[in-house]
Amino acid sequence: MAMMTMRRAVALGARHIPAAATASSRVVPLRHMSADAGAAMEKIRAAGLLRTQGLIAGKWVDAYDGKTIEVQNPATGEVLANVPCMGSRETSDAIASAHSTFYSWSKLTASERSKALRKWYDLIISHKEELALLMTLEQGKPMKEALGEVNYGASFIEYFAEEAKRIYGDIIPPTLSDRRLLVLKQPVGVVGAITPWNFPLAMITRKVGPALACGCTVVVKPSEFTPLTALAAADLALQAGIPAGALNVVMGNAPEIGDALLQSTQVRKITFTGSTAVGKKLMAGSANTVKKVSLELGGNAPCIVFDDADIDVAVKGSLAAKFRNSGQTCVCANRILVQEGIYEKFATAFIKAVQSLKVGNGLEESTSQGPLINEAAVQKVEKFINDATSKGANVMLGGKRHSLGMSFYEPTVVGNVSNDMLLFREEVFGPVAPLIPFKTEEEAVHMANDTNAGLAAYIFTKSIPRSWRVSESLEYGLVGVNEGIISTEVAPFGGVKQSGLGREGSKYGIDEYLELKYICMGNLG
Ligand code: NAP
Repeated sequence: MAMMTMRRAVALGARHIPAAATASSRVVPLRHMSADAGAAMEKIRAAGLLRTQGLIAGKWVDAYDGKTIEVQNPATGEVLANVPCMGSRETSDAIASAHSTFYSWSKLTASERSKALRKWYDLIISHKEELALLMTLEQGKPMKEALGEVNYGASFIEYFAEEAKRIYGDIIPPTLSDRRLLVLKQPVGVVGAITPWNFPLAMITRKVGPALACGCTVVVKPSEFTPLTALAAADLALQAGIPAGALNVVMGNAPEIGDALLQSTQVRKITFTGSTAVGKKLMAGSANTVKKVSLELGGNAPCIVFDDADIDVAVKGSLAAKFRNSGQTCVCANRILVQEGIYEKFATAFIKAVQSLKVGNGLEESTSQGPLINEAAVQKVEKFINDATSKGANVMLGGKRHSLGMSFYEPTVVGNVSNDMLLFREEVFGPVAPLIPFKTEEEAVHMANDTNAGLAAYIFTKSIPRSWRVSESLEYGLVGVNEGIISTEVAPFGGVKQSGLGREGSKYGIDEYLELKYICMGNLG
């Protein structure tokens, strides 16, 4: 069974609507929604940001065969809207549009591209609330986190609007006196960007910002679970003057869209954020046309709490690193390794902090933990908990579905986890904090590196020599020292080992969308 079909069968049941839907029927009548969701949808609609069609060559379009997919609110199961279920034909047209626009967009001056991006940033910020509401409705994260994501997502547009003007080449001292050797940096061309549901805005802007800044054009495929935020952001890009065809959005049949992007010789770069399994497929599929590839894949972050840690700092940092987005981030602390001398004290303080997390619908102000994305995600958490308890771990807090029903799960702490358990070996992607005791620094580093993943790691210690030593020994792309939230647009984000290739954000992030061209000018003597 194809991966996409299996995901839908397990996670979505009968979400596909095979018959053609008219434009007016795509948005579900507000009277069918809860009061909060209805009011939020009304606000988004009034701002003109409830887009429910794909974007190809600057036009809002349906799937050519009229098929649609339901977008659901994971907190309530309500259907928010139906969006087109597109496939290879729509993707080919989006690629053609991006390809023809590349010639004009890449010829603009850096300053002209920068101005359009800056305007896009301003529009995102001025529509912060509507975008955050959309995100909370389709993804489930609490409004406070959604507002944080809008700021974070927008920051990549602002940063790369500025960086567009700093794409410098080089002049190399020649080896012969009548020659001059130059290096130009030029945009790679059409980019295919495939993004996940857990950060519906930021995972797109982290790719599209640098791509557009250096003159590339893009075909974005957001997750089928969270297309509405992507479409609203694309609408704002058009309003900002980013030309028709520079940014296209298609969604629906992921393998078909992915294959169309992979097979096209016009697509010169694939940038992907998502699971390691799909990332490997895309990497293999890029070989045939030798595309440039960037991959931001799954993590298995260790969070090491040493005996000499400040316990308050360690609890606050590991709580933030673990429970953001209900444990559904690639940099979430997946394994909390705690040194024996502090284990009991840390566990007690940590459990108390976890007990203070309020589970609920993200639209409610007091909520700090929203639902998981779907039923399949809850089943995965249940499987990991069953596996751990059958092998000797003890549930110290939570450990079951939340009484709110749907895909809500209780914030959970599991003690005495060991390296033969799924909780140690794989990403749980849910609100479960496994505590793992260790004796020595060497043992902790060994356990931390005992995985194929290498995205984020965290350490808590008051010792400066130890913080250097351990940071340098960790086989990870990102290390937080006495801090649980470390992502920012100005620093390079990305993993080593099977967590990915390339970096996003920062001055390094733009290189992923550039090619070097060497020019040798001869006979100048
Ligand atoms: P996923 O299943 O790999 O999906 C990611 C994207 O790939 C979605 O748009 C999905 O489409 C699409 N896709 C699925 N199968 C495809 C195929 N055969 N060809 C082309 N595209 C395909 O991952 P997810 O469940 O959405 O996201 C969670 C994962 O992302 C976790 O492992 C997390 O660690 C990782 N992640 C990594 C980072 C990072 O920066 N390293 C950041 C965030 C998340 P549909 O959704 O429409 O099926």
